[in-house]
Amino acid sequence: MKLWEENIRRVVPYTPGEQPAGESIIKLNTNENPYPPALGVKKAMQDMDAGRLRKYPDPAAQSLVGCLADYYGVGQDQVFVGVGSDDVLATAFLTFFHSGKPVLFPDISYSFYPVWADLFRIPYETPALDESFGIRAEDYYKSNGGVVFPNPNAPTGLFLPLSQVEEILRHNQDAVVVVDEAYIDFGGTSAVGLTRRYENLLVVQTFSKSRSLAGLRIGFAIGHKDLIRALNDVKYSYNSYTMNIPSLILGVEAVKDEAYFCGTLEKIMATRERAKARLKGLGFSFPDSQANFIFASHKQAPAGELFQALRENQIYVRYFKQPRLENYLRITIGTDEEMDKLFAFLESYLK
Ligand code: PMP
Repeated sequence: MKLWEENIRRVVPYTPGEQPAGESIIKLNTNENPYPPALGVKKAMQDMDAGRLRKYPDPAAQSLVGCLADYYGVGQDQVFVGVGSDDVLATAFLTFFHSGKPVLFPDISYSFYPVWADLFRIPYETPALDESFGIRAEDYYKSNGGVVFPNPNAPTGLFLPLSQVEEILRHNQDAVVVVDEAYIDFGGTSAVGLTRRYENLLVVQTFSKSRSLAGLRIGFAIGHKDLIRALNDVKYSYNSYTMNIPSLILGVEAVKDEAYFCGTLEKIMATRERAKARLKGLGFSFPDSQANFIFASHKQAPAGELFQALRENQIYVRYFKQPRLENYLRITIGTDEEMDKLFAFLESYLK
């Protein structure tokens, strides 16, 4: 091996879900929103002046930060924005998990967490979920270098009640606790309100799921101003212009249309509840999801085979070939029409 090769930072990267091309595909594999973004987004896109792109964007992303601060009733110094919540979470790992003590996150949760930890050389421990895939708050009471978990959890869809989140915070006054609320708008209750009482709480959310803007890459964090300042210091230490001009303009438009936002959420939640009933009828079992996906296992049909069969029929879901997960499929909630096609296929396949 050449010396320069020895000096390469070796990492095992995260594997994102497939993005297959094609009109006829039913894409239920990456928890995207099946509905388009708010109409104002489309209009602003059409009205956008390409000449503006000559200049750099506002490095402080003031317009978007201000709009999110107003929406959540917090100060502008309490909001941080990034290129999807992946960027916000990665920056949080780099900023807050620097003690040398192990960071704690569930053994079954967002599979990007161990990747960031390895990339940034952060030690970590992964307390096991209980038999029903629940997070046990007491597993997070021991000494640690920080805590991070999704709520609702992914890929299980289970929501941890805020009282339990608060218990974790009460036992962790000396480390930063990051609650990853990528799926919170689909029926959970956000921990944003708790940031008033817990200076060490950072709540992270995204425009990718509930606001139908996965393609734009917008994520944000809300927390005490000292946390936000620390995030910004790290951000300005590697890339000051993370948010591009179209994202800043279109992100604000998405937040403006509350009626459309609520309407879309209602539709997805109604489809999810209908899907639970149908899947149960077909012999599937699953944790009671409060997210825009269902993590389902069939008593007879092995998930790996079902995954392949669905794929051959142009229906894409997500399959994780890992211990404890290998008999489950994570199915994103699509439109009613898409879900009906899924159910029709499952019905004939399982016969
Ligand atoms: N957190 C969780 C739990 C997720 O499932 C995802 C989606 N892959 C993200 C964060 C990141 O989403 P985005 O970067 O699109 O905001």
